[in-house]
Order: sequence, then structure tokens, then C-alpha cells
Amino acid sequence: LGKAVYRGRFAPSPTGPLHFGSLVSALASYLDAKQNQGDWIIRIEDVDGTRCKASFSEQIIETLNSYQLSSDEPIKVQSNNTQTYEQHLLILKEQTLVFPCNCTRQSLSEYNGNHPYECKSTLSKTHSWRLKASNDVYQYEDTIQGSLKFIDDLKSTSPILKRKDDYFSYQLAVVIDDHQQNITDLVRGADLIETTAQQLYLYDLFKWTPPSICHIPLITNTLGEKISKQNHAKPIENGHLPTLLRALHYLGIDLNSPPSISEALSLAVKEWKPSKLYRIKHLPLEEQDLHL
Ligand code: GLU
Repeated sequence: LGKAVYRGRFAPSPTGPLHFGSLVSALASYLDAKQNQGDWIIRIEDVDGTRCKASFSEQIIETLNSYQLSSDEPIKVQSNNTQTYEQHLLILKEQTLVFPCNCTRQSLSEYNGNHPYECKSTLSKTHSWRLKASNDVYQYEDTIQGSLKFIDDLKSTSPILKRKDDYFSYQLAVVIDDHQQNITDLVRGADLIETTAQQLYLYDLFKWTPPSICHIPLITNTLGEKISKQNHAKPIENGHLPTLLRALHYLGIDLNSPPSISEALSLAVKEWKPSKLYRIKHLPLEEQDLHL
């Protein structure tokens, strides 16, 4: 029962080469899009100019393409879209939904890193912009995780939308881009569940309809940590069929020695069944995959 128009996306942040966990996420969004006869697009989320590198973007795209995961549309890069983010921040400023802030991680440590209802910082010329807290409660139906309800998520945090160093935040950029690119379905890692309420809130503030959202269990190392550059995740090999088959295994798809990557992908598109996946947030790598 596909939607009339399905548009999915994979939106990596180029802070390092593609690792096994991101291949699993990329595949999940791809399989869901293709099973629904939809388009699948890649978007480079490089808003954080202090951590992202163009060379990683190129490497990520090359690795995805080597697994025959290629974008159905030209790839958009968030660092080229800052004017749009600025315009949308202005809309929120005009409605006094955001406030200027000079709190630091250190000054917020007494509030567990959350921002208190009233900002106590002294403003100077450079400051960040935060979204005001709200009492709204959000609930949505996640195909994999079930019904998710966010009660206190907006009460206790005022996420930064634009940083003191002028970079826009992921929260603002992802909502604007998913909306502008008419994305209908998000399939992403469960580490992003906690960003969902704030994103749904932004959709409401802009009076946009949010996409359907679902979260696959996040692949972790044996310590339960997200595989990332910070904990020395290895880049995966390009175009390596055994790696692809292991990635599909974590998505509940076990194929019987397909001859090629393209064959494996087309079989996987038929077998993909998100509702079959575990309702868990973390899935540790199995022993045999620790080298991946
Ligand atoms: N760019 C985000 C990341 O790499 C993913 C964004 C999303 O899927 O919403 O973690």
C-alpha cells in the first residue's frame, strides 16, 4: 500500500567516511523508498562547518554509489542553503519564538545541560539563537518503534537554531530541507528519536505537514556506543558484496548468496519489512562483524 508519491532520503553528515552503521541506515531508507516505488535522494548535511569536510562528502557518495545506492536527483548540500535557513529564522524571530542567548555549555551544566526557562546570560554582539521552550506534547506512530509520545521534550530544552559562530543547527536545517525537498518519509537511526519532538514542533510553527517518521535500531559497538568517527569506526570497503549482505542482515533480511550487489538489492527491496524489526533502540554488532 504505497503512498501516491513517496520521497525518501539519506542525509549523512560528512564528519568522516561512511561506516557500517551508516550503510545500514542508508539501506533502510533506500529499501523503504524503492519498495514504495518512490524516489530516494541523498542530501549532504554539512551545516556544522567545524566538523564537516567536502572530502568526506565525496568519499561517502562514492561509497554509496559503489553499493549502487545513487541519488535519484542531484545531491543538495546544506552549506549552500544558508540563505533559506536565515529567512526561516527571521520568520521565527518576527513571532518572538526564538531568543538570543549567550549561555555556554559550562554555564548550563547546573541545569544538566538543558536551558532554563528564562535565559540568564548577558548578551554581547555575538550570540546564538534558541527556540523558546513549549508545553506542547507530541505523539506519532513509528512503524518500527510503535507509538512514541514526547511529554517533557520541549519543556526542558531550548535547542539552538543558529550558533554563536553563525552556523545553523541540524534541527533547523533538517526540517527546512525535508520540507523543501517534499520528503514524505524519514527512515533513520534510533539515535535521532530524541530530536523528533523538536522537529515536529518546528513543522507546526512553520505550518507544514511533517513526513512519516520511523527509526531503525541503531547499530552499536559491543559497548553500546554508536559507531562513529569518535570511537574509531573504520570506513567500509567500497562495493563489497559480503559487507552489503551483513548490513542487510541487521535489517532482518538474510539472502542466500546472491551473485551481485544489484541482485542483492532487488531481492532486498522485495523482502524489506520494517514492522518485522525489533522495537529496540540499539542493536550491537555481532561477533563476526566486529571487523567491519
Ligand atoms: N545528518 C544526520 C546524521 O548524520 C541525519 C539526519 C536525519 O536523518 O534526520 O546523523
